[in-house]
Amino acid sequence: MFSVGQRGSSNELFDPEQVRNFVQNRINTSYIRDNTDYLTRFDHVAGTEGNLFLGKWVEGIFRGAGLENVDMEQFDVYLNYPKKNGRRVAIVEPLEHAWEALLEEDYAYKVPPREQPFVFHGLSKTGNVSGPLIYVNYGSRKDFQDLADKGVNMTGSVALVRYYGTQTEPALKVKAAELAGAVGCIIYSDPAEDGVRQGKVYPNGRFMPGDGVQRGTVALTSWVAGDVLSSGFPSLPGESKRDPKEGTLGLVQIPSIPLAARDAQKLLEALKGHGYKLHKDWVGGLDLEYWSGDQFSPVVHLMNDQDEEERQPIYNVLGKITGIEQSEKSVIVGNHRDAWCFGAADPGSGTAIMLEIVRVFGALKSRGWRPLRTIEFASWDAEEYNLIGSTEHVEARIDDLRRDGFAYLNVDVGAVGDDFQAAGCPSFEPVLVKVLGRVGDPARNKTLYSVWKETNNRIRGLGAGSDYVAFQDMAGTSSLDLSFNGPAYPYHSCYDNFEWMTNFGDPGFQHHKALTEVLALLILELADSPILPLNNEIYATYIRGYVEELDHYVRAKGKEKHTLDLKPLQNAANVLHQAANQFHGWEKAWREVVIGQGGFESNAMAIKRISHNTRLADFDTELLDIDGGLPDREQYKHILFAPALWSGYDEATFPGVRDAIDDGKWELAQQQVQKAADILTSACKKLLH
Ligand SMILES: [Zn+2]
Repeated sequence: MFSVGQRGSSNELFDPEQVRNFVQNRINTSYIRDNTDYLTRFDHVAGTEGNLFLGKWVEGIFRGAGLENVDMEQFDVYLNYPKKNGRRVAIVEPLEHAWEALLEEDYAYKVPPREQPFVFHGLSKTGNVSGPLIYVNYGSRKDFQDLADKGVNMTGSVALVRYYGTQTEPALKVKAAELAGAVGCIIYSDPAEDGVRQGKVYPNGRFMPGDGVQRGTVALTSWVAGDVLSSGFPSLPGESKRDPKEGTLGLVQIPSIPLAARDAQKLLEALKGHGYKLHKDWVGGLDLEYWSGDQFSPVVHLMNDQDEEERQPIYNVLGKITGIEQSEKSVIVGNHRDAWCFGAADPGSGTAIMLEIVRVFGALKSRGWRPLRTIEFASWDAEEYNLIGSTEHVEARIDDLRRDGFAYLNVDVGAVGDDFQAAGCPSFEPVLVKVLGRVGDPARNKTLYSVWKETNNRIRGLGAGSDYVAFQDMAGTSSLDLSFNGPAYPYHSCYDNFEWMTNFGDPGFQHHKALTEVLALLILELADSPILPLNNEIYATYIRGYVEELDHYVRAKGKEKHTLDLKPLQNAANVLHQAANQFHGWEKAWREVVIGQGGFESNAMAIKRISHNTRLADFDTELLDIDGGLPDREQYKHILFAPALWSGYDEATFPGVRDAIDDGKWELAQQQVQKAADILTSACKKLLH
């Protein structure tokens, strides 16, 4: 054990092992459970009174725990809201098929009835359209192409597509419908994906009941993240600069609406005999024949009239524990607070976990403990619409974050099953694995590390799924997202509530507890280890893998007509491997000297160590193409990571190269290869400088 400097306001020395034990032993499921209960008592959509109320409550908890600089940060952003009589889905022709969809879910709480927000798609287009109904499977571009190849003309139609499948992101289903010529798009929950075909439905099981509706955003996050009317700059109150709503790449141009299986059943039944009878991959789990429909299908009226709020205030809640060695450098922990309804899993489970961490770290701080680096906590608003709170926050302090952001840890849907997952920057892998060795897997009689090893788990890529996007892809703050995943659940429905969580999601809250332990231990390692535990050798190994994947991609897309020379990237990955080896070698030397001196660290050694940590944390920032960014989506600056252009929940590695290939611009793709290689090589030089 070594001690660095004088620790704590009482000059008390804290044994790191005792600190870890203190934190792990304090985490208490009854607090987590009570907070989940409180967080889910009323709906709290972004920008509403409910979410402001919860924001003030979170602010109170931050203050009560003794966090410093506790504050509510306001941004005024473009949001929209459904109107009571503003939405309609109905068959209007022929008259014998006339029918109108119920639209709303049943009340999740019947006695007394608890208010629920209307179902809609966030940031969807206001519109009032009619057209023949055509079913297009999952609504991927390939699905639309397949129908076109069969001679089905989408022009002027209303597309009916199901959630999930080969196009996971709802926004891109609507965009594909728009590009195919449809005038509107309906996305429904098919029981084969998340309902009765998967198992018992709520309240008898975990799956989506027939009246359940999946709300969600249709903002095109992989093209523009954050407030779509302030791409690249923060929507501060009073800011007069604004991008025009017309022409923003972040918004779809046709209206859309989500629908329950019970309503979709009627629409699909009406298609019988129109277009093609469908087989296998296009058939869902409703008890009927699936037909495509065509230009002569029954005509559907789709109305989506909304309140448009150009400058709706939203609030992030912030607080911190200031570090004693490098107080300007931060490890940031974030989770969003807004929900489409009651939000027990999404995001209540993540919020309850973060609040428990705040409580325990508050207790630690009250005993005089302080970390070496600052720990910041953030409760983000308007994540559901387009990662808005976190992106505006990052844009407002972009230079500070690029210089001082050491790491960003995200939790969103924290616990809905027993499958531990981590996604993020690969340089976290060694420290994550170390931490997993100290935490038990609640579903198995072994540590999370054993399970990680047995299942060949690895750190997955970051898509556009949550608030890490602006940190990793715009600020270059190395980011990690943690969760316990599971089978489908009533995602973005009012059935994602406290009773669902206590009966099916995580009864006993043991997975919440395990994730709290993992996150708390990671915070300690990142904020309080004398040497910042990120590892660029592992990073280099992953990058070699990314180059291989890119090679496969090039072969598949080039179809022997086009090819790319990827040697510059292979070379750059090798340069990183060598540089990282040399760089981390110094850490061993530091340990030997300090341990050799009984834990004493000279001032000269301390200065070297601090510079070492800063260069290590700067590495991800050096991988930004700060003055450029991805062509056509300049907000995205990182040469290695961005959400994939056409499947935003998935990551694209070397996104600049992939975007150009997807566009058929092979010369540009080769330039992007060279650019990425140059940026990577120059980042290696700075690492050793
Ligand atoms: Zn979420």
